[in-house]
Amino acid sequence: MPYTGSCHCGAVTFSVDADTPAEAMTCNCSHCSRKGFVLTFVPADRFTLDSGADQLTDYQFYKHKITHQFCKTCGTQAFALGDSPDGAMRAINLRCVPDVDIDALNIQKVDGASF
Ligand SMILES: [Zn+2]
Repeated sequence: MPYTGSCHCGAVTFSVDADTPAEAMTCNCSHCSRKGFVLTFVPADRFTLDSGADQLTDYQFYKHKITHQFCKTCGTQAFALGDSPDGAMRAINLRCVPDVDIDALNIQKVDGASF
């Protein structure tokens, strides 16, 4: 069943055409740890930005391979845009998805700090 998410102020909303995941990823790199991301990844064509395109601004660093879009009103980053060998991807910050019970997820810890 599709699920939806949003930034904190509600300006930016999105939906994902997939079941809510049972697994997610956390990463200890300087960026993920500061933002506290709990991430899942979906093909870009499963992701729909439902509102707030004009509220998004973005942040890029390192090789500029990932576009970290966040709401310029509340600062929440609910998702990111990136590429993979399988095509365009969206990284979904599950902390912005009310239907997901973060404590029930099987978390895979990625050692991004060592990359
Ligand atoms: Zn917002």
